[in-house]
Amino acid sequence: MTTLGQTLSTLSPDATSRRPDMIVIRTPHDMLSWARAQRTSDSVAGFVPTMGALHEGHMSLMRLARQQCGTVVVSIFVNPTQFNQPTDFETYPRPEAEDLAVCEACGVDVVFMPTAEQMYPRGYATTVLPEGVADTMEGASRPGHFAGVATIVTKLFNCVAPDRAYFGEKDFQQLAVVKQLVRDLNLGVTIVPVPTVRDTDGLALSSRNARLSVKERNAAGLIPVILCEAQCMARDDRQALDIVGHVSTRLRDVPYSRIDYVTVVDGDSLSTVDTPDERSVLAIAVWVGDVRLIDNVPLLGHLVT
Ligand code: AMP
Repeated sequence: MTTLGQTLSTLSPDATSRRPDMIVIRTPHDMLSWARAQRTSDSVAGFVPTMGALHEGHMSLMRLARQQCGTVVVSIFVNPTQFNQPTDFETYPRPEAEDLAVCEACGVDVVFMPTAEQMYPRGYATTVLPEGVADTMEGASRPGHFAGVATIVTKLFNCVAPDRAYFGEKDFQQLAVVKQLVRDLNLGVTIVPVPTVRDTDGLALSSRNARLSVKERNAAGLIPVILCEAQCMARDDRQALDIVGHVSTRLRDVPYSRIDYVTVVDGDSLSTVDTPDERSVLAIAVWVGDVRLIDNVPLLGHLVT
């Protein structure tokens, strides 16, 4: 069996060691070499793709991967092709040293941190274009977003060759798109959903929360309260139209807010629902100041706060 140390010694000089049991790999070529060397072992390879600025939400994915897999790879890559606003991409936080410390603390074996130039070199001209569950909500509001996501996930899976990959339910539609991608392209990776981790006031943790001012962050604390009200309405057998109306009215009253969408969908097909049932999910996207927040709750599941 190849040890991490032996594998590291075969990699080019920019694959540096953070400490004996965690290595950082910076090129797709080295990542693939490492993954191929690992194939000789029979341990399950777990993968957590991220864009960095790691928080407790990401850590819950890493910890679950650590529990379930023999090796754990985390990628940190702010993927330019899934951003449809240049300023959002440019201002996305990139705290590399802190992120590596978080990965170490979670017992990660390998951190894959390529540059955009390495992932999309000159002449790059291939895109994976998901349809179906990618067409609504985020797909409608952010043209090109899921093509960017599907393309980078495919590329990362090809570099890392995982058995299992961990995705947060916070990005509920992304999870559906990735499941569809794996099914449609026979990628042979088991997708593991991980519940949303929330702050003490119920706001879903997000790397973008750091860009909220204190006043905006306080205002954003109303979002989980409103989602909880929606869950109570569903328990009282209210129709989706009423729930969407109530949530929209309440979100409009949140200071600094602007609604992008509020919808009730089937958790599998993502088609809109009239009468909520056990599979129904309320999904929202709302701007608070300059920060776009998304969240979702199962209408008849556990209360969000
Ligand atoms: P990102 O770095 O935002 O691309 O997220 C990387 C992964 O972490 C995705 O699968 C997200 O769904 C997941 N994630 C982000 N925030 C949370 C959260 N609050 N709870 C659980 N998973 C999350």
